[in-house]
Amino acid sequence: MAKLHEKVSNQRKDFLHKRSRQITNAYDGVCIEDLDMKAMSRSLNLGKSVSDNGWGMFTIFLKYKLEEQGKKLMKVGRFFVSSQTCSVCGYKNVKTKNLALREWDCPQCGNHHDRDVNAAINIRNGGMRLVNA
Ligand SMILES: [Zn+2]
Repeated sequence: MAKLHEKVSNQRKDFLHKRSRQITNAYDGVCIEDLDMKAMSRSLNLGKSVSDNGWGMFTIFLKYKLEEQGKKLMKVGRFFVSSQTCSVCGYKNVKTKNLALREWDCPQCGNHHDRDVNAAINIRNGGMRLVNA
């Protein structure tokens, strides 16, 4: 059993190294949301897969690989509501707290959003503000 656990752990680490290398080589900087994974797994019942901290390891790998190339990892604050804010006009839509809502139309500016793409744009904009601050 111990050998099997070690093998799975090494496979996961290998995967995280490869993905963080690909992302580092492809981009000049990376913006991520500074997620509280413990709180997330508690509140969303996501189970062990997120609570055993693969994300934490991934961000560590990403950070040092980026820095080796003189690039930056920008962490956007965890209280920044990336999925609830319209990336075009800034309207805050509390209805998107519902994770099942994958797409929405902004009631203020009318833009149509894919939940994840909109959140990613907000995180990028938040990270860029950190760089330019
Ligand atoms: Zn809007």
